[in-house]
Amino acid sequence: MKTIAAFLFTLSATFLAGSIVDAAPAAVPSLGSAADVASDGRLNQNATSNAAFTVASGGLPVILTAPHGGSAAVPGVPERKGDGVTRFNSRADTNTDVLTEKLADALDQKLGKRPYVVVARFHRKYIDANRRPADAFESAEAKATYDAYHAAIASACKEVTARWGRGVVLDIHGQAAQPGVALRGTQNGKTVTHLLKQSGHEAVYGETSLFGQLAKQGFAVFPAVGSSDPESPNYSGGHTVGIHGSSSGGTIDAIQLELGTQYRDSETIGDMADKLASAITAFAKSYLPAAEQKLAAGDATNRTGKIAIGVYFDKGAGPSVKALLRTLGKFEEVSVTKLTADQIRSGGLTGLDILMHPGGSGGDQGRNLDEPGREKIRNFVREGGGFVGICAGAYLASAHYPWSLNILDAKVLDTQHWNRGTGTVDIELTSKGRETLRTTNQKLPIHYAQGPLLAPANRPEIEDYEEMATFKTEIAKNGAPKGVMIGTTAIARGRFGQGRVVCFSPHPEMTAGLEAFLQDSIDYVNRKRTSQ
Ligand SMILES: [Zn+2]
Repeated sequence: MKTIAAFLFTLSATFLAGSIVDAAPAAVPSLGSAADVASDGRLNQNATSNAAFTVASGGLPVILTAPHGGSAAVPGVPERKGDGVTRFNSRADTNTDVLTEKLADALDQKLGKRPYVVVARFHRKYIDANRRPADAFESAEAKATYDAYHAAIASACKEVTARWGRGVVLDIHGQAAQPGVALRGTQNGKTVTHLLKQSGHEAVYGETSLFGQLAKQGFAVFPAVGSSDPESPNYSGGHTVGIHGSSSGGTIDAIQLELGTQYRDSETIGDMADKLASAITAFAKSYLPAAEQKLAAGDATNRTGKIAIGVYFDKGAGPSVKALLRTLGKFEEVSVTKLTADQIRSGGLTGLDILMHPGGSGGDQGRNLDEPGREKIRNFVREGGGFVGICAGAYLASAHYPWSLNILDAKVLDTQHWNRGTGTVDIELTSKGRETLRTTNQKLPIHYAQGPLLAPANRPEIEDYEEMATFKTEIAKNGAPKGVMIGTTAIARGRFGQGRVVCFSPHPEMTAGLEAFLQDSIDYVNRKRTSQ
């Protein structure tokens, strides 16, 4: 099914391609139909129309957004009337689109890498991308463009989180009330909750904060550097920093910049972009990660370029975890860390590429993780981490039990006879299974020890899994009815957010000759990275 996750993945793939999604239309009177941007946040490339907004990938944990600089009409979208909208405003923030692009170029010159950029081309009189939906648009066509604009920002945030662990959204605006002043908007600290927690008061209010650095570049700033005065009520941060910043969790902080007219003058805009870039560069050196997580200094795993794998080693892990660790020990390009539930809950997944859950008891593993631990794993996978579950680990990954992770859209059949016995069974590989597990064998014997009989759960919020293998023979001891196991899913692969999941009901790590299936699964779920 086409889910939000699939949608975001599409956008992410666009970012990873490292291309500018659509060129900025210079002085274009009208945009392509809104329907063209609804599906994946960009226009059909073969359309003669122009993008409603520009999206570009980056190599820095900085996302520049500009919702109010556009000047184009959106076909089929009338001008907003603003009935019932408080503080209705349909005027553009002149030159903020141009300034944002020049700023991206200037950052590239100073840091050798570009920020992520999402710039609206539509005029504010059609859509106000910095308001909540009820106040932002007045037609279905406009809603499609509005939604796609914010989905593009959300996708950039997810990618920055996956690559650097944290980052910042800078939402660029203009105001005319105080022509010589730049105002900070963080909803009085709410949208930079994570930055305050991570780096303290100085990072938001002090001389080395973004606005402190702007002051050093000659900008008059409000509130004053070093003061904790409330932000100006009209410019304290709108919808964009509110939903994409860290107000309600996460590690992306968001700051609105309201630049006075004087800082957006066409004559001096190049100079202003350069000064802004100098301030952002200085701020980034103090407060943003310099390198992508995989290359983080001090992390032995990352220095060696090995795939960092965590293996759950706590209550509910059975004796087969030893076979798993022994098998992983034979692979040269992986490094293995054993993790307890407590470590998973307290940030132990940071810096890992893959988490593996071994055989044992799925219920014991899931309950021992508890909801906070399970949510850590979900977020890890959602943000691009890989997951491999074997037997109990597959029960855990399913969408079946109160203690499940719900990262594989699978239910478990005949749970009543879970203790159906242990032995060797035959599995039949699908074409996807043969592709992922790099084998031409259609049918294989494999060790089975009461793993789940998986079937599609058809949960709307999780992407459907792809079957890699089915059971061709069965074990039906201890009162289990015959015929139920045959044909059920033995091995599955799926996507959850930006991450990938592989689940084995049987045990490749305990089957002589099939250990390579683990290496193939590792390669399949491994975190995808760009090398910028
Ligand atoms: Zn604005």
